[in-house]
Amino acid sequence: MSTTTAASEKPQEEKKGSGTYEAGCHCGYIKFSVTLSPPLPEYKVLNCNCSACAHLGYLLVYPKATEVVWHNNGRERCVNYRFNTKEKDQMFCPKCGASLGIDFRDCIKEHTYGISARTFYGIDLDELNYKKLDGKNVVKPAEDLSGHVWDEEKQELK
Ligand SMILES: [Zn+2]
Repeated sequence: MSTTTAASEKPQEEKKGSGTYEAGCHCGYIKFSVTLSPPLPEYKVLNCNCSACAHLGYLLVYPKATEVVWHNNGRERCVNYRFNTKEKDQMFCPKCGASLGIDFRDCIKEHTYGISARTFYGIDLDELNYKKLDGKNVVKPAEDLSGHVWDEEKQELK
C-alpha cells in the first residue's frame, strides 16, 4: 500500500477544505454568504449554454441550503421566476434586477441552490475553473428551456 498520492487522484483527494464568500446583487438589497467545498479556486463552476444559463447569465456553483446564509431576509426579498416545468425559482433582486441563481427547494430532495458566481464580491471571473455543459442539447427538455421557440418568420413564440 502506498501513502503517496498519484497526480491523477488529486481532484478527489483535495475535496477537503472549504471557503466562505460574501455575495449579493448589484445594489446591495440582497446579500448572502456562500460556503463552498472545495473552495472557489478549486471549484468547477458550471458554464452551460442552455437558454436559462445564457439569458440569465449564470455561472453556477451548487451549495446546499445549509451552506447559504441569507442576510436581512435576503431570500424573501428575491423575486422569483419559473418556466417550463415550473419546479424551481430563478431568483432576482427586485430593485436592481441582478440575476442571483436558482432555488432547487421543490425539485431536489436535499435543499440545494445554484448560485451564480457572478454574485460573488471581489472575485476575478477569469481566474475561475469552468466545467462546460452543453445544456442546450443534453438537458431535458432540450431546445429552448423557456418552453417556447421564437418563430422568426411569424415573429411570434410558438
Ligand atoms: Zn439589487
